[in-house]
Amino acid sequence: VNETPAVTRSAAELEELDRRVLLHPHQNGAQHERRTMVRGSGCLVWDARGVELLDVMGGGNWVAQVGHGRTELAEAAARQMGTLEYFTGFDIFANDQSLMLAERLVALAPDGLDRVFFTNGGSEGVETAIKFARLYHHHRGEPDRTWVISRHFAYHGTTYGSGTATGFPGMHQGIGLGLPHVAKVSPAHPYRAPDLAPGRDLTDFLLDELAGTIDQIGAGNIAAMIGEPVMGGAGILIPPADYWPRVRELLARHGILLIADEVVTGFGRTGAWFDSAVRGMRADIAVVAKGLTSGYAPLGAVLVRDEIGETVAGGDAYLFHGHTYSGHATACAVALANLDLVDREQLVGRSATVGEWFGAALAPLGDRPHVGEVRIAGATVGIELVADRGTREPLMAGAVARELRDVHRVVARDYGNTLVMAPPLVISQPQVTRAAEAVAEVISRLG
Ligand code: PLP
Repeated sequence: VNETPAVTRSAAELEELDRRVLLHPHQNGAQHERRTMVRGSGCLVWDARGVELLDVMGGGNWVAQVGHGRTELAEAAARQMGTLEYFTGFDIFANDQSLMLAERLVALAPDGLDRVFFTNGGSEGVETAIKFARLYHHHRGEPDRTWVISRHFAYHGTTYGSGTATGFPGMHQGIGLGLPHVAKVSPAHPYRAPDLAPGRDLTDFLLDELAGTIDQIGAGNIAAMIGEPVMGGAGILIPPADYWPRVRELLARHGILLIADEVVTGFGRTGAWFDSAVRGMRADIAVVAKGLTSGYAPLGAVLVRDEIGETVAGGDAYLFHGHTYSGHATACAVALANLDLVDREQLVGRSATVGEWFGAALAPLGDRPHVGEVRIAGATVGIELVADRGTREPLMAGAVARELRDVHRVVARDYGNTLVMAPPLVISQPQVTRAAEAVAEVISRLG
């Protein structure tokens, strides 16, 4: 399956074709280089020119838990396509794969998340979660609860609703107003905490800010708060241990739902099946995608408390929401086979081991003048670069990521001034060492 790529055109033809017809997601108009990927195996991927790259970014996008080129998943997809590729999930219909996957997700999820709605990915999942939260309050006689609280620098997707919840201002420029009624509070970022009075605790500060925001909007107008247990796209931001339990408690006092965006963190990425469970979020709604299929098929899921499911779609409610491909039979079969692999190869436990390998291999970076902080959560690594360790002035990580790719043939990613790695969980220790040595070499040349 993995040996002979079905590439019928030369690399140069493909690159020219790319420039002519394709608009890339997150395309940088100033960047004219193109690279066509054609094959993968484990943590290695190859482009159309035959160049081999070490993928320490999970398919470039935090997805490839089980690594590339797994024939088990190709076979699961082929089997399902030969049996029943797709049938609608609308109205009374379902397919057996979506039911078995929903059962499996409920078993893995934190207690209480007992109902599952399928989407095509993370943005649709966040979109669905926001709509469910609003609908829930609407059906319970509190239609004014429309506001959503999210955080600056959160990444929740790019569709209208999820994109409005996303906390990068650039995403909101030039498209007019986003979803109304979204407020942002500060992220839990110990390294870049605001100037606190001596002895003032960061969580106390963040809770006061959140309480102030709730007061300002009025608790009776707020549907939900959404947050990533550990923030990924913001550069691996790990909250203080008491942050989520205290946020949870404050929201519960005001009848505000908590949505855990586990699109990145789920399925072992940061060390647990559901990271929200170990950080004390006790979420009412959780959104997953990415590692659910390891990227072998597009799929997301929204898990909700029974009572929320009953309120939005039970009794005499009609749920006027859904996608043609919600619960796609082939995608769900692939997800089941993927979860089998994650289970069998004990990849959730291995995530912490991968993090320890990175921690040890990157330890020498701690002394470099341009490394502000190295943050590791499970098999994710964020290296925050600074122009000066005293002032903590950010140093953009784009050039480091490019050098890593072009000189060392290692694929990581830059998120602002943080270099991020989130490799397949099957990565070997020598591959971790190779990536860490490459990172150290490029960073050492910064000064
Ligand atoms: N939520 C988080 C935390 C993400 O990191 C992402 C994508 O990276 C999304 C949501 C959006 O998911 P998708 O790109 O599948 O729409």
